[in-house]
Amino acid sequence: MKLNPDILAQIRENIAHAKNSEFYKKKFDGIEPEDMKTEADFLKLPFTGKEDLRDAYPLGLAAVSDEKIVRIHSSSGTTGTPVIIPYTQKDVNDWAFMFKRCYETAGITAKDRIQITPGYGLWTAGIGFQLGAELLGAMAVPMGPGNTDKQIKMMIDLQSTVIAATSSYALLLAEEIEKHGLKDKVKLKKGVIGSERWGEKMRRRIACELGVELYDIYGLTEIYGPGIGMSCKHECGMHMWTDFLYYELIDPKTGLNVKEGEIGELVITTLKKEGAPLIRYRTHDLTRELPGECKCGLHFPRIDTLIGRSDDMVKVKGAIIFPGKVDEALSQIDGVSSEYQIMLDHLNGRDKLTLFFETSVPQAEYAELEKRVAVQFKERVGVTPSPKAVGMGELPRSEKKSTRIFDNRY
Ligand code: ZN
Repeated sequence: MKLNPDILAQIRENIAHAKNSEFYKKKFDGIEPEDMKTEADFLKLPFTGKEDLRDAYPLGLAAVSDEKIVRIHSSSGTTGTPVIIPYTQKDVNDWAFMFKRCYETAGITAKDRIQITPGYGLWTAGIGFQLGAELLGAMAVPMGPGNTDKQIKMMIDLQSTVIAATSSYALLLAEEIEKHGLKDKVKLKKGVIGSERWGEKMRRRIACELGVELYDIYGLTEIYGPGIGMSCKHECGMHMWTDFLYYELIDPKTGLNVKEGEIGELVITTLKKEGAPLIRYRTHDLTRELPGECKCGLHFPRIDTLIGRSDDMVKVKGAIIFPGKVDEALSQIDGVSSEYQIMLDHLNGRDKLTLFFETSVPQAEYAELEKRVAVQFKERVGVTPSPKAVGMGELPRSEKKSTRIFDNRY
């Protein structure tokens, strides 16, 4: 998004405030707010990453004195030290205000009953949905996750009209409701789904089985929590609440801003956060900016539905490749399983992409299948691969999320 003088002034103030924290005092040593006169100055500021926030554990991010902090949240690290984000009362109020705006963007009103299935506790999901619902004046039904039978009972008895959930839990609920033939008793009209990469197929299934309109909500614990962006009824990306934050899209390898409309990693600078202001925070979420004004009339700019994580992305011959895109391309081809591996090499001055994929077709048909895969892959991913068919189970599996793309070029 455009960095105008007004935002630049807010960022200057934010930097001055952030330097009250131990963390930014050290990180921005030698950087003075008044040095930030132009966009070029801003773009020279270092990024802040999740690792940095871990190093600030427990309260190194706090930019206000203890008595102003009213609560903390923590982001779920998969390993090691968690990240702790302190909030002032104003931060909590601002978050609720943004969340209320999310509900309103989805046409949800004080007459709605919002069943909240994301978890409560250290992380920001459940309580964010709750805050926004209360400020809106809707009836919050704070279920938290799990206990699907009780979940459905409450949904029916209380006549919930809105379900807040992750896409996977929404799907599970939809299946249970279908299985028990309860669809007629359920009064849901809308689903607010925490944004993650989820396919169009899954979206249609949830919408159809629950009989609801679906909305994507965006957010992360480091920047308030869910509720900093929301899709509207036109289903074209998510409006971002840029009165509270400034965002950029960067090339994850070079750190430079991408050209307009190109896919990049979302980087966020908070404009009003007191407890733990963040400057150029790397979210690792891949998306792109959508051009023009939205038909809904909201003037807030839009980012596309999340496309994947920047950690998984590679660039080959100008094309951007990430597992989601490859999954999608391969899922269209008969006889090709979902298991694949990509090897990237740099040979004789050129990038080479070798695509290994598993198939159940007889070996005699490999050559013909490889040709089809090459055509489809080129069409959908944008690069011509060297396809290599292998038998089912021949590619290595691992307990954890298996690595799909091996970049041997550097
Ligand atoms: Zn809109």
